[in-house]
Amino acid sequence: MANLKLSHIYKVYDNGHKAVNDFSIDIADREFIVFVGPSGCGKSTTLRMIAGLETITAGDLFIGDTLVNDMEPKDRDIAMVFQSYALYPHMTVYENMAFGLRNRKMPEAEIKERVLKAAKMLDIEDYLERKPKEMSGGQRQRVALGRALVRDPKVFLLDEPLSNLDAKLRAAMRTEITALHKSLNTTFIYVTHDQVEAMTMGTRIVVMKNGYVQQIDTPMNLYNLPYNKFVAGFIGTPQMNFFDVRLKREGDIVGILFANGDVAKVPYENVSKIHSRYLTGEVPAIFGIRPEHINIERDGGGLKFVITNVERLGNETIIHGKLGDSLGEFTMKDEGNNIVVKVVDRDDLAIGDIVYAVPNPNKVHFFDAETEVTLMNKIPTYNTVPATVNGDRMTLLGNAVALPPVFAAALGEADHFELSIPPQAIVPGSDFALKVARIENVDGQNLAYLSNGDSYLFALVDETVTEGQTYGFSLLNEQLNLTADGEQVLAAVSEEESFLGTFSKEERHENGGRVYHFFYNIGNYSLEAEQEKGFKINAIDGDNCYKNTYRYSVNRNDIQLTDGTAPCITAPVLELLDYGNVCFAKVDAAGQSVLVNVPAGFADPEVRIALKSEDVSVYSTRIDMKIC
Ligand code: ADP
Repeated sequence: MANLKLSHIYKVYDNGHKAVNDFSIDIADREFIVFVGPSGCGKSTTLRMIAGLETITAGDLFIGDTLVNDMEPKDRDIAMVFQSYALYPHMTVYENMAFGLRNRKMPEAEIKERVLKAAKMLDIEDYLERKPKEMSGGQRQRVALGRALVRDPKVFLLDEPLSNLDAKLRAAMRTEITALHKSLNTTFIYVTHDQVEAMTMGTRIVVMKNGYVQQIDTPMNLYNLPYNKFVAGFIGTPQMNFFDVRLKREGDIVGILFANGDVAKVPYENVSKIHSRYLTGEVPAIFGIRPEHINIERDGGGLKFVITNVERLGNETIIHGKLGDSLGEFTMKDEGNNIVVKVVDRDDLAIGDIVYAVPNPNKVHFFDAETEVTLMNKIPTYNTVPATVNGDRMTLLGNAVALPPVFAAALGEADHFELSIPPQAIVPGSDFALKVARIENVDGQNLAYLSNGDSYLFALVDETVTEGQTYGFSLLNEQLNLTADGEQVLAAVSEEESFLGTFSKEERHENGGRVYHFFYNIGNYSLEAEQEKGFKINAIDGDNCYKNTYRYSVNRNDIQLTDGTAPCITAPVLELLDYGNVCFAKVDAAGQSVLVNVPAGFADPEVRIALKSEDVSVYSTRIDMKIC
């Protein structure tokens, strides 16, 4: 039994190929985690790093509470099952299963007990005296599982174990492995490129592409709430349909405008999480709808299309078609405009029929045309609200409040502007009050839909807030973006501050031995690093580490203002930034501009700042990577 933690794991192969980027996940004891994605996306590399068969370039891997980055595979208490079975051909099934235990000098009686127990679980008791070549692929894979099982490991790693089996056997083995996981109460990590395996077996799935995690979620969340177009297209067969569209809101209805002039309609309520900037009819977006979420009508009311193929599978029928072109005509050759619909109990549809596709309005997906990220995030990333300036006050959300001096400076002459407000920047307070129309629980957080005219302001609230009440709140001004005349005039302030610097080592003779001390150097300021981090940087970059530039990043709240008696950076104040709720001094820290927290009315010409090494995260500037 074990939980695992992968924290900012990277793999850069010796040839410079970055196979895994910033992979982080907390895996609970007894989870069945599946890594899925197309070939070459970094699944096996990640699994092999967990197994200890591949070194970890950067990041921390914990099994239980133990950091195992440098632990030998045999000491990690994991067992791995490979696609190729990796059985010894000259040994019997029994010997294959007993081999690892014999190597560990386990008493023969116990070995026998374990092998027989595993053989029984896997239904291979009758084959124990056979050699692998006398068995079928499915049986061999069971032996490979058995060999892992007898070791009673904390974690099972399985790398495409079923890909050599035929479809029927694969389906049967899926069920068996799921049952095995249930009966063993052990953590499983399973790699596959097959989304059906992922969906049917995983308690949670990690979808990967090009070395990057795309989404980590339950099977149903991946299906219902895909984070981007890639995940949406990867999960589900036949694949989700995608169309280039624009969206236009008219009152309670949002029209989905297709390139050919067709329009489908959904109630605004179903898509209220889409930011209003996408609802003007001007901004390109991608519309996604699964084949099983389209109805086919004979008499209008949807997207007109011609049926180009009908695949009858018995239990369901897959209809392929093409939407009409801008003249309402159908060209069977046209590459684009394909549509796939899955129907049941429809015998009436035939090639050449002209019919109408009606998307289920509760099952629509929309993605940004460029980033391909969903426009219906579980928690919307920001709200936009209009505001006006009246002297030293600003009016928004039905109230006038003090205009922060930083806003006034950024706005200049402009007296109308837009504020973009992330839900996290809305906190309990007394500046504004809106009615709570709805509360939705999203991954353990409470998302409130606050009624703001004919749309919603999305906020995160605690469990005391209820539907129907009036919610009083204030804004964290430093987290807002300001736009005037279509130009961003002020960007939200990040919580992180970065210092560029170098890294050095000193060898000292202490207590009769040589001890290495490592330092982060920012200008003339030297901060001693924890030794473990120093060794890590050295292990990753070799002796180049003493020549490289690093980015030392800290949360602003961890920057210490000191009296200058201890080593520090003396930083002249360039500007005071008064946001009303908080105040920052913009300072010149060894040639770099950073913000530090200061009390309101602060007027000193310089600050002395120091960092604590435990608060510092170190990033490589050579390749974009968090080292520690
Ligand atoms: P997957 O398991 O998702 O198919 P892998 O983890 O095997 O992908 O590989 C990820 C990427 O790393 C691929 O582009 C692959 O070519 C590359 N790769 C794998 N092993 C090595 C290696 N030893 N040296 C260099 N590149 C490698």
